[in-house]
Amino acid sequence: MTAAEERDQAETIATACRLLAYLGLVRETTGHVSARVDGEHMLIRCRGSQESGLVFTEAECVRKVPFVGAGMAKGESEYETPSELPIHGEMYILRPEVNAVVHAHPRASLVCTLAGLPLKPIFGSYDIHAMALADEGVPVFPRSVLIRERYLGQQLAAAMGTKHVCIMRGHGITTVGRSVQEATIRAIHLETLASVTLDVARAGGKIESISEEDLEYFRRLRATQDKKHQAHGQDILTWTWRHYVKLLEAHEAGRR
Ligand SMILES: [Zn+2]
Repeated sequence: MTAAEERDQAETIATACRLLAYLGLVRETTGHVSARVDGEHMLIRCRGSQESGLVFTEAECVRKVPFVGAGMAKGESEYETPSELPIHGEMYILRPEVNAVVHAHPRASLVCTLAGLPLKPIFGSYDIHAMALADEGVPVFPRSVLIRERYLGQQLAAAMGTKHVCIMRGHGITTVGRSVQEATIRAIHLETLASVTLDVARAGGKIESISEEDLEYFRRLRATQDKKHQAHGQDILTWTWRHYVKLLEAHEAGRR
């Protein structure tokens, strides 16, 4: 990654942090987004001396650190790395295909873990990307502790296996992707799935998957859409990311 690419990536990470905060997936100063730089380093959202929460994240707070042993305490550096750095570092070490990691504390996902509500493909066309996550299966990391040690990061990565999302009981979520955009949008879709699941439970409904026939329909549709988008150079991810960035920009412009 060139220096210019690193600067661009830092901007994207900062945008992802502000977006997750705007959408309510992270609160106050908790949660972080990172991206792989090379085989040993990542860019990650840190806390600076003017830390004011993720909703105000600037690219300067995104620092390049090694996967392991990057603990920077206040006083040693102007920036403090997240205490849960091993969520990111261990994921990059164990999964070479992962280029970005999001760790957030969204409320509906949290409540689903506490209430023991399973995340199933309970809807179809309403949000086919959120339902696809459920169809692939959403692993649950059973511990509620901070992931501050390497072995806990390794346990989290093991619980995720090859999946792209994980809910962490009494804690939050971790999502991964080939890009910051992909990991961020997965986090948003996961929270959509959790919030609908929670609403169904509150309404006294059963958390039931749609029919196997309909699940098959959506699996075929996804396979076809992927091919079509590749052929036409279109990408639903690009559109969705653009949508959310514009939404965020409109919100930020309104408050200036
Ligand atoms: Zn956390």
